[in-house]
Amino acid sequence: MENLYTQLLEDVRFEEGLNACMNCGVCTAICPAAEFYNYDPRMIVDMVQTRNDEVIRDLLKSETIWYCGQCMSCKTRCPRGNTPGQIIMALRLLSQKLGYFTESEKGRQQFAVKRTVGDNILEYGYCVPSYDVEPERHPEQGPVWEHIYENLEHFIARAGGELYGKEGPLRRFTPEVMQELRDIFDVTGGLDLFDAIEEASEKKAKEMDMEFTKEGIDCEYFRHVYTFDSGIHFIEEPIMEDHETGR
Ligand code: SF4
Ligand code: SF4
Repeated sequence: MENLYTQLLEDVRFEEGLNACMNCGVCTAICPAAEFYNYDPRMIVDMVQTRNDEVIRDLLKSETIWYCGQCMSCKTRCPRGNTPGQIIMALRLLSQKLGYFTESEKGRQQFAVKRTVGDNILEYGYCVPSYDVEPERHPEQGPVWEHIYENLEHFIARAGGELYGKEGPLRRFTPEVMQELRDIFDVTGGLDLFDAIEEASEKKAKEMDMEFTKEGIDCEYFRHVYTFDSGIHFIEEPIMEDHETGR
């Protein structure tokens, strides 16, 4: 027996985020993610408050908990003082801890976030250092990025820094600072969470018969979760308000 609802209650964001939901749908009406994704925060809150483990397990395995942009607009409008965005953050954490995140396409992307942003923080002290934003992997950076990437030292100097130096952007942190950072991750459970994401992802890669390496991003499973899009996530016609007519 997993007692999923009890485990959710241990997360302070869940405790603070859910008072009692009357299923009015105001959160969905204000939610920017619901405008584009197949997504309904009202429904998620309604499912959670059933306190039914089977229903909650389905949520932990679902695509839907990964659509929230964590903007917290829902907090400002809920007539019952709930915060669906916080409830969803608690669901995500539990899904990661228990490995259920690998059951959804959006959830599996957590592995890519861990291997990039997560590992970067522990290795360099930065979430996304410029030298890690390879132009071929990040076409969203636009055509100028390749030039900046290839001349990073020059551009960092223009911004008042020294690449891998002592000061400014992209400076190198001392071993003491890096150890302190790791210690913070250790005592707050971040390292355990990283391990849980690795373990569940490796298991899933085996299930999917894909190559998996213990570190780095040069493996089939990473490339798959990083690039695959089944196209099931968006609603066909985004609900866009016509600002001329207000409809
Ligand atoms: S706005 Fe609040 S009460 Fe209404 S459905 Fe959303 S969470 Fe429930
Ligand atoms: S926090 Fe999430 S659920 Fe709430 S309004 Fe923002 S995107 Fe929607």
